[in-house]
Amino acid sequence: MNKFRRPFRSSKHPVVPCQPLVLPVKSRGVEIRRGAKFRDTWQLVRRLKLSRCINLGRLYFSYQASRLLKKPIHAGLPAAVAVEPTTSCNLRCPECPSGLRSFSRPTGRLSLADFKNLIDEISPFTLYLTLYFQGEPYLNKELLDMVAYAHARGLYTATSTNAHFLTDDVARRTVESGLCRLIISVDGATQDVYAQYRVGGRLQKVLDGARRVAAWKRQLKSPTPHVIFQFLVVRPNEHQMEDVARLAKECGADEVRFKTAQVYDYENGHPLIPLNEKFARYRLRADGRWEIKNALGNRCWRMWHSCVVTWDGRVVPCCFDKDATHVLGQLNGRSLKDVWRGSDYREFRRKILRARREIDICTNCTEGTRVWGH
Ligand code: SF4
Repeated sequence: MNKFRRPFRSSKHPVVPCQPLVLPVKSRGVEIRRGAKFRDTWQLVRRLKLSRCINLGRLYFSYQASRLLKKPIHAGLPAAVAVEPTTSCNLRCPECPSGLRSFSRPTGRLSLADFKNLIDEISPFTLYLTLYFQGEPYLNKELLDMVAYAHARGLYTATSTNAHFLTDDVARRTVESGLCRLIISVDGATQDVYAQYRVGGRLQKVLDGARRVAAWKRQLKSPTPHVIFQFLVVRPNEHQMEDVARLAKECGADEVRFKTAQVYDYENGHPLIPLNEKFARYRLRADGRWEIKNALGNRCWRMWHSCVVTWDGRVVPCCFDKDATHVLGQLNGRSLKDVWRGSDYREFRRKILRARREIDICTNCTEGTRVWGH
């Protein structure tokens, strides 16, 4: 049994008082290279052509009208789309269904042809394309062809990786693909701490991969990708936040971000919840039970402006629906526009506005709060 699965904080096991971390960095993240965040924002802003701006305006105003009138009024098309290159993963992270091999949906890889069809449809209105959901994106050998295709159609592209496949050739092709943002999971500054969450992972491989990307950026004089070291703050690694910022600098990353972790079965405490409350999504109640910090208000901006497409074309509400239990449409033979405007989507938005707490995935979700340390 994985030791992280055993709750260690409960009313029977009082919580150790929070030890304040001495962290000479901002909670959200640290800019490592001067001006890097500005350059990254510029990559996004320069892709704001008129049709995308109009779409964003329609999404925003229909969302506000829905909140005000408490009924789903919706105009516009998804401004942000996440596409899943694959559900396969090489690691065994304890809170991830890919890592635990616990999906009820099939494992597979998105084909380049399906991806191109989707991009051809969404590129007039979508601004931000995320090429990851579950699984390790680089296990799809066509990942960088997908990035290049989306890049050529003017989308801002981002992916997130455990960086175990960034050989010299892949690092070069990553830079050449035009990828705008590369998020690298670095959840520890030493191998023993890193591997407590990234089970089966090798920290040295990750750091070497990041260095190769930085080297190719320099060699090709490319401002992209903006490389972010993402540090998921959990109890076993929270003492290494400053160390990882140092590592990021050494490896030529642009930014470090400290992200709070979602855990399951948190009600009786969980060994992954950090002691530093600023980086925990959950808090201890007076009765000894744990609860999510955010208010779970009956609203969800994500349902108005973004969606997630699994490798086999299922459209799901958001990244919290990891096992695709709320499929709102299937793309095989159907357009994303059609699904987005369909009755299942409308009904899901209506449920959110009525009683978000009644939807299982929405009760352990950060919508309405910050995930980057709060
Ligand atoms: S889980 Fe969160 S982000 Fe997803 S639909 Fe529910 S409220 Fe929105």
